[in-house]
Amino acid sequence: MKYLSEYRNPELAKKVLREIGKTVTKSWNIMEVCGGQTHSLVKNGILSVLPKKITMLHGPGCPVCVTPLNLIDKAIYLAEKKAVILCSFGDMLRVPGSNKNLLEAKAQGADVRILYSPLEAVTLAKQNPDKEVVFFAVGFETTAPANALSVLHAEKLGLTNYSILTSHVLVPPAIKALMEDPESHIDAFLAAGHVCSIMGYWEYFPLVEKYKIPIVVTGFEPLDLLQGILMVVKQLEEGRAEVENQYVRMVKEKGNTTAQKIISDVFEVGDQMWRGIGTIGKSGFHLRGKYGRFDANKKFSIHIKMASENKECIAGNIMKGISKPFECSQFGKKCTPQNPLGAPMVSSEGACAAYYNFSTIYKTMDL
Ligand code: SF4
Repeated sequence: MKYLSEYRNPELAKKVLREIGKTVTKSWNIMEVCGGQTHSLVKNGILSVLPKKITMLHGPGCPVCVTPLNLIDKAIYLAEKKAVILCSFGDMLRVPGSNKNLLEAKAQGADVRILYSPLEAVTLAKQNPDKEVVFFAVGFETTAPANALSVLHAEKLGLTNYSILTSHVLVPPAIKALMEDPESHIDAFLAAGHVCSIMGYWEYFPLVEKYKIPIVVTGFEPLDLLQGILMVVKQLEEGRAEVENQYVRMVKEKGNTTAQKIISDVFEVGDQMWRGIGTIGKSGFHLRGKYGRFDANKKFSIHIKMASENKECIAGNIMKGISKPFECSQFGKKCTPQNPLGAPMVSSEGACAAYYNFSTIYKTMDL
């Protein structure tokens, strides 16, 4: 297949679906790690046409959803109390902090700007030497190279008014944590193709070996997802547990080694707090000591209280595959995209937003 439309071809999709139907004999729980994959599964109606024996669980791969509440409060604090130019991808702006979100802070006069690249924030810092510019550097391994490059670029330009507020999370430690969670019942994973295009899939071999679970690197189009599910189901039915790559057009085993080198020059691996899930050991990228002056956490004294999560939000359970969005008592009631109680309802990669926005799926379910 050469063209994107071919990955959305209904006749080919039906063919793969029939093959999945012929292959599956037992019930299996398959987790797609990435929120982009969740949205594609829901939006394209794949969940409603899969054989009943296959249950798709929606994983923690929504970077906005796992960014700690405390960090959102810090970003708001910096914009409001330290008068920095706070730059962020648009997705973060409506995610609830403990009292308000960044969009409300902006409406109340804080200088919050939506950018498409951290390099734009470096340019802003160069253009505004009398202002501090902070980029809210959130994401999985996929966005880490660009954020690392922004630090290297700022250093090269000799800027002293640029820093990043980081929440960089990593997929393999999250898979490990899920496999060791007694409440999780996951039989196999679809790994996120874009993360693997940067990191490769060599990191998954020890996980497959240790937990005896199939992991298939999978893309985002309907046929990618159906093929990924078919590959996983074949492994499960045959009693195999291997790493396989469905997304061959983008992913190589070793990944993008140039990007990996840039990441490891700037970041080191450390423990990381995941919103709704808790701290996972060695699951985040943090700025190395030699780049400490670009770390907004160190640069500014930030005085905020640790806030607690909304008790009605079960986002953590949803991201661990224990609950579905429509099992939340507030789904579509107190919690909507216009008035989100939790991040998964507002993020473009959040599972609750996927079910809410593409509502024909959940409306056919027994609520
Ligand atoms: S529907 Fe809203 S309150 Fe419920 S889990 Fe999702 S984000 Fe949280």
